[in-house]
Amino acid sequence: MLPKRQPKRVGEAEYSRSGFLAVAGAGALLLARRPLIAQKDGIVPTMVNAAAKAKIIAHPLRRNITVLEGSGGNIAVLTGRDGKLLVDAGFTVSRPALSNALTAISADPIKHLINTHWHTDHTDGNAWLHSVGAAITAHENTRKHLSVATQVEAWNYTFPAAPSGALPAKVFKTDSEMRRNDTRILMKYYGPAHTDSDISVNFTDADVFHVGDTWWNGVYPFIDYSTGGSIDGSIRAAEANLAAVTSKTIVIPGHGPVGGNSDVAEFRDMLVAIREKVAALKKQGRTVNETIAAKPTASYDAKWGQFLITPDMFTGLVYQGV
Ligand SMILES: [Zn+2]
Repeated sequence: MLPKRQPKRVGEAEYSRSGFLAVAGAGALLLARRPLIAQKDGIVPTMVNAAAKAKIIAHPLRRNITVLEGSGGNIAVLTGRDGKLLVDAGFTVSRPALSNALTAISADPIKHLINTHWHTDHTDGNAWLHSVGAAITAHENTRKHLSVATQVEAWNYTFPAAPSGALPAKVFKTDSEMRRNDTRILMKYYGPAHTDSDISVNFTDADVFHVGDTWWNGVYPFIDYSTGGSIDGSIRAAEANLAAVTSKTIVIPGHGPVGGNSDVAEFRDMLVAIREKVAALKKQGRTVNETIAAKPTASYDAKWGQFLITPDMFTGLVYQGV
């Protein structure tokens, strides 16, 4: 679903936190709402380029579930005699590396794919995975956004409509359940959160919970207001995640390392605290630039501000929704 043209590399961007910083810093300029960064130089091509160079790292979690890191969002893989089931698809450029990583886990053919939401770093690989046998399931808004050209304003990027094979054939509104490889898989819609298409995928027997981009572990999250996301929706989703897990649950974030309930709580607390600070500044009548200049995230930046979404960008995203 990305343009065929190869994106240009930006600065020294590599698949590393330091590499993303150069781009994320430039990305803060997007808040000025001027087209300072053309599509070919923006965050999306940089993510694609990073994925093209990345090694795919496999982390076995519990039972027959593994997480693959390195191509866009974290990909969960459930193996067994019903064939592999993937949660999220990464970028198409990672096909060779992902194929190798998947084969290394088991010889089971790829049979199913669930998308946690419509964003390209979670769905770009849909077409190739479908072409090798994956039936795709997602929330109905994921199909809606993939079916037409969709703009993400904060990324200054318009995604073209995805090819028909990349579209989820099975969609649902509130929740859905399936059983594969002796494992119950419960999918639940959050309501508007990071986008308007976010679902959680709960492997209940294994107590492994993929929450997509409603959780970024240890880094500020992106919030996509262009397709229904908001800071308050993000906080509601974080509360829902916290209510759904125990100290034994393995929680897979959309981005960042796998973690547990205390990490999810810390993320929720960070969102709530920064929302309050930014809301207070906006209530005083400060503009977005004045609010960014007041550095309401300062005490959180050393931990959370070191990845794709910089402190300034995150402040702007929160400001938009309070
Ligand atoms: Zn996302």
